[in-house]
Amino acid sequence: MRRRKFLKKSSLSTAGIVSAPLFSSCKNAPEEKEIPISVPARKPIVIATWNVPNATAKAWEVLNSGGTALDAVEQGTKVEEADTNNQSVGKGGRPDREGRVTLDACIMDQNGNCGAVVFLQNVTHAISVARKVMEATPHVMLAGEGAEQFAYEQGFAKENLLTEKSRLEWEEWKKESKYEPVINIENHDTIGMVAIDEKGDISGACTTSGMAYKMAGRVGDSPIIGSGLFVDNEIGGAAATGQGEEVVKTVGSFLVVELMRQGRSPQEACEEAVHRIVKGNPRHKDFQVGYIAINKNGETGGYCIHPGFSYRVYSKNGHENIEPGSFLEP
Ligand code: ASP
Repeated sequence: MRRRKFLKKSSLSTAGIVSAPLFSSCKNAPEEKEIPISVPARKPIVIATWNVPNATAKAWEVLNSGGTALDAVEQGTKVEEADTNNQSVGKGGRPDREGRVTLDACIMDQNGNCGAVVFLQNVTHAISVARKVMEATPHVMLAGEGAEQFAYEQGFAKENLLTEKSRLEWEEWKKESKYEPVINIENHDTIGMVAIDEKGDISGACTTSGMAYKMAGRVGDSPIIGSGLFVDNEIGGAAATGQGEEVVKTVGSFLVVELMRQGRSPQEACEEAVHRIVKGNPRHKDFQVGYIAINKNGETGGYCIHPGFSYRVYSKNGHENIEPGSFLEP
């Protein structure tokens, strides 16, 4: 059933379907499976976690003027990093429990290249530093002081990321709290973004200040390729938001893309990845995890453990904020 649906959806594209061997090096390998390598029917297109119209509009501006998906996701996510009203990303992000704003980000292009920064302080545009790691170093990830030093060498400015609003909220939290990081239902919201450009190439970006009032040194899923973000230019891309620990344990974004490779629609893949987390986890009511995904044809999906999740799509057909549903306790 699922397979038939997938092939039907794939026929929306302008090119055909090819056979590609999966697990070809394994003994008893399953039969060859058909995977789509077609030019997307719906392109350019960009999707992002949450209702971030300014970010998707910026990404669209890049795509609509013939720019690459890589430039689009970088420019789009930078909008949220610079917006001090968004207290979960970049400048103005909520600090860790010591009062330090520490940023995590990663980026991945259509050739499988990627770059990431973790525990980056004093630099607003973590996503651009991640891109520099990808393009100007032989490495994939830089952390802490090394990442910060590298950013200055690349010309990024040193800034105080702790706004007065975030500082005052943190002071309040210290009075009330047991000096433990809060459970991540409200104090979060990573921006993950995946785009397909005019040429049909896919890239993605993910950036966050992480869980509010986290322990010093805590890093979540957002800068980890395969967890917070994954792109496979043959298949599609996915990004995660919510409690990073749960995403890391299930290598969530890679799982979503791999499920699409096996024939699931983006929506089905996101739902399965959420169910993997929920299954046998009595704590799932205490945290939020959501995924968004797009396949090579420009079909999109999203799913979350808790209600209230939405994702944003911007394409030639217009722009919309989709509430894709969520896991509800049976
Ligand atoms: N995923 C991010 C993290 O765990 C935060 C969030 O999206 O809420 O650091």
